[in-house]
Order: sequence, then structure tokens, then C-alpha cells
Amino acid sequence: MAKLFIPGPTEVREEIRQELAKPMIGHRSGEFKKLFSDVSPKLQKVLYTNNRVFLSTSSALGVMEGAIRNIVKERSLNLVCGSFSDRWAKMVGECGKEGDTIEVDMGKAIKSEMVEEKLSSGNYDTLCLTHNETSTGVMNPLEEISEIAKKYPDIVFMVDATSSMSGVKIDVDKLGIDVCLASVQKCFALPPGLAVFSCSEKALERSKEVPNRGYYFDFQQFLNYYEKQNTISTPAIPHIYALNKQLDRMFEEGIENRFNRHKEMADFTRKWAIDNGFSLFPEEGYESITLTCINNTKGINVADTINKVKEKGMEFGNGYRDIKEKTFRIGHMGDLTLDEVRELTEAISEVIK
Ligand SMILES: *Cc1c(COP(=O)(O)O)cnc(C)c1O
Repeated sequence: MAKLFIPGPTEVREEIRQELAKPMIGHRSGEFKKLFSDVSPKLQKVLYTNNRVFLSTSSALGVMEGAIRNIVKERSLNLVCGSFSDRWAKMVGECGKEGDTIEVDMGKAIKSEMVEEKLSSGNYDTLCLTHNETSTGVMNPLEEISEIAKKYPDIVFMVDATSSMSGVKIDVDKLGIDVCLASVQKCFALPPGLAVFSCSEKALERSKEVPNRGYYFDFQQFLNYYEKQNTISTPAIPHIYALNKQLDRMFEEGIENRFNRHKEMADFTRKWAIDNGFSLFPEEGYESITLTCINNTKGINVADTINKVKEKGMEFGNGYRDIKEKTFRIGHMGDLTLDEVRELTEAISEVIK
């Protein structure tokens, strides 16, 4: 099996995989309550928030759809800069809600001025942002955009942080993020199948006013069950064991050290790309810290290179959809180390020389 350097799912350490093999417990048992109440404060710490952090047995898209159904009242503003952020816009429409979109070209970031101009119209009750656009390797300026969002206290600010949460510091309370969501197969380095999301009082109050929230993703039900340290349906208990263990490992490493490690891997990968005659796909200053999207300026056969590197025991990612052969992507998130990223880049250099 090749070690994964794709932008999700990411490499899962043996120690974590062992957690998934633990004997099962009932989800209405005292043991589960204990597990739930162990995990909750640890997640709050990683997200720098006093808001409740809910566990959802789904991938991130499930929570996104739920968030739209619970939060968008009249109209949302959706910030689109690639294929993942485009899901906000698509889902708002599919959920039968109204939304407007600010869209920039792939590789470009959303700028706070664009957001300010639209929000000042007073037309919106919800703002939807994707922090790290995984298809283009662009990291949007979350802090600047959150400063704008704060000027509109009636707007609920929702952030898809799927490919950045726990790899990059997201100070949820300081930034005033009302709903901050991620699935766990990216920077958390767990297998896919579980998502987490923080939810502010403002978001919970809003959801009370919104009809047709559905059942499985009804935020009011997440709240009701949270108060009992429980979940509405049978959750992915093995994943929650693994998450608990992973959170402990994060604190052992030191959460700041974890963020720094991601930064080091990003700096290294960008430098390797430039030194080897490639260029970076994202506009300068907005490059992702958790994955690097590289322009295939040398015209290498991306699919072929991936296969050859895979024979050496490592797998990196191709470009996403429209930019499939024009770019390739190296994921450097989760538990991967600088040494491992170095090993991968050496293997790529070897194959393409
Ligand atoms: C991977 C990803 C998603 C989709 O997550 P799932 O867990 O597959 O639903 C959504 N948004 C971003 C930014 C992602 O990177």
C-alpha cells in the first residue's frame, strides 16, 4: 500500500488504526457518555472555541448540506474559488434556498473587499466560505474576511475548513465563525466517515427559526443530544475512539508544533517545485499550507509519474477536474513529516529527471 500524499484521505498511522479495532460499546451506555465527554473539550481546544463541537457520522458534505438547511433563511452569499467552494453554491440551490455567488477564477483567492461590497447590500442572512480550496491549493484570507463578516451581526458566518482544520490555526471564537466544519480524513489524519463542526449560540438560535431543517442534520437535535453527551443516531463509535486518541497525540506533539510542522512542509514543497522548474498554481500570497498545487509547466505526464512514484511506495495527487493534467497536487497534512515529504519529492525528482 502506498503512503498517501494526496489531499485526502490522508495517511493514517498504525496507532490510530488500532483504535478502530477496539471492542464495541453501546451508544446509550455510560462508556459512550464518557468517550463523548472526553472528546468534546479536546475539540474545543483545537478549534479555540467555547462553542459546542458536534460529531456527525457523515462526511463534510453532509454537514454542509445540514448547515444550509438549518441556517439559510432568505438568502446566502457563497464565495466560490474552485470545485469545493462551488458546492456551497450548488447545495444552496439544491436545498431550495436563494443564494448569490462571488466567483473568482481558479487559482485566485476571495478578497475581503469583494465580500464587503456584496454584504453591504443588506441582502444576506448567511455567508459561506471555504477556507482552504483543495482543488486549487488556494488558502483564502480567513482573518480578513472574518473582519468583514463581524460588521454584520445578523449574518451567520459558515466556514468549510475540511482541508485545514487542525493543520492550521483557526481561532473560531476570535474570528467569530458561527459554523466551522470539517471531515476527519484530511488534517485530522483519520479514516473517512466522521465530521465535526462547531456551532455558535447565534447559529443555534437561527436554526430554531428556519423550517424544514430535515431530521438527520437538525442542529436542534444535535444540541438536545449534546446536552446528554450523546448523538441522535448510532454514531461511528470506532471513529470517535480514534479521534479521541488523535486529539491526545496532537496535544502530545503540541498543537502549535503541529501547525508549524504543516508550515514547514508547505515551505519545503513550494521550494522544491520552484527549484525544479515548476511554478505554483495559486496566486502569490494565498498558497495553501496543507497542500501544494503545482503548475505542470514542464509538461510531465502526470498520470504516468503518479504511477511510477506509487511503485516506490508513495502516492501524490493529480490536478482536480478542469486542471487535471495542467497541475498536480501534493498533500502535506495530518501526521506526515518533513522527512516523509522530502522522500516523496526525491522520488518525484528521480522519476521525472
Ligand atoms: C474534501 C473536501 C470536502 C469534501 O469532504 P467530504 O468529507 O468528502 O464530504 C469539502 N470541502 C473541502 C474544502 C474539502 O477539502
